[in-house]
Amino acid sequence: MSQKRQYFEEPIVRVPIDKVYFPHICPICGKEAKKPARIIATPGKNRYLRPEWDPAFHPSVRKRQGIKPPEMKSLLLYVCDEHYKSDEGDTNYRLLCLIGNGLLGMTFLFALFTIGGSIWGGYDVGIIPYLTVLVFFISLAITTVSFRGGPLANAVKIVGFDGGIQNIWLQLKRRDYREILVEENAMHAELVSWIVKS
Ligand SMILES: [Zn+2]
Repeated sequence: MSQKRQYFEEPIVRVPIDKVYFPHICPICGKEAKKPARIIATPGKNRYLRPEWDPAFHPSVRKRQGIKPPEMKSLLLYVCDEHYKSDEGDTNYRLLCLIGNGLLGMTFLFALFTIGGSIWGGYDVGIIPYLTVLVFFISLAITTVSFRGGPLANAVKIVGFDGGIQNIWLQLKRRDYREILVEENAMHAELVSWIVKS
């Protein structure tokens, strides 16, 4: 088994999952935070995800397919009004993106054939097929960005777990947030500058 050390420029925070207490400031902008926000961690996969990242996590889809939720830990933290988004709206928006991309994808193929045929046959098809191709790529880019996880996932990154999933490693974008988090969890929190990944 090869083990790799991973170093961090800014130390990450190691806290027990069940005991961590998140401060009432926004991890994204540092303002006062009152709205609850959840981050779902799936320890088995050693990665973090929020439910709306994956269409299969939409409750109705899961129910229909009989998928049991994997062992998940939910972290409750707080964000400001400005950065608060409800999970539900987000999920629906992303499903819409997927459906839209599916339809656009078919139109895209059709446009490609039209363009291909026009080049092969030497006739002019006008600008519409080219516009279709452009729109497809733009919408693909928008979807990619919307699935990237947003500012919250960037501000609070789950690096991994240790100690039989007792502890979680958090990488925090804001230094002031990290300092307050460590201060408020002084009994349990620990700053870590490197970890070993197996
Ligand atoms: Zn904020």
